[in-house]
Amino acid sequence: MSRCPDCGCELPDSQTLCTACYDARYALVGQPKRSRSFRERLTGRNVLLFLGMFGVGFLEFRFDTGDYFPFNLFLSYRYHLMPTKTAVLTAFVFASIAFYVESSRQK
Ligand SMILES: [Zn+2]
Repeated sequence: MSRCPDCGCELPDSQTLCTACYDARYALVGQPKRSRSFRERLTGRNVLLFLGMFGVGFLEFRFDTGDYFPFNLFLSYRYHLMPTKTAVLTAFVFASIAFYVESSRQK
C-alpha cells in the first residue's frame, strides 16, 4: 500500500494520487484559459502601443518618410503612396494587430 502524497490517505497500488486529490489537481490544471476581454486588454500600455503604431503607420503609409527615417521597413512598397483614407485604414489594421498580439502576450 502506498500513500497519497497530498492528503496521506492509503491508496491501491496502481494509483499515485487518491481520487479526490487527482480531481482537485486536474480541476486546477485543466481550467481553460479564458481569453481576455477587450476591457482587460485595454491597459494604458497597450493603448499607447496602439496609438503609437497607428501614428507611425499612418505617417509611414501616407507620406514618403524615407527622407526622415534612415531605416525604412516599407521601402519596397514606397512607389505608390496611399491616399489618406487607405492609409488610415491600413494603419488602423496594423495597430489593431499589434494591440491584439501584445495584449495576448502579457500574463
Ligand atoms: Zn489524496
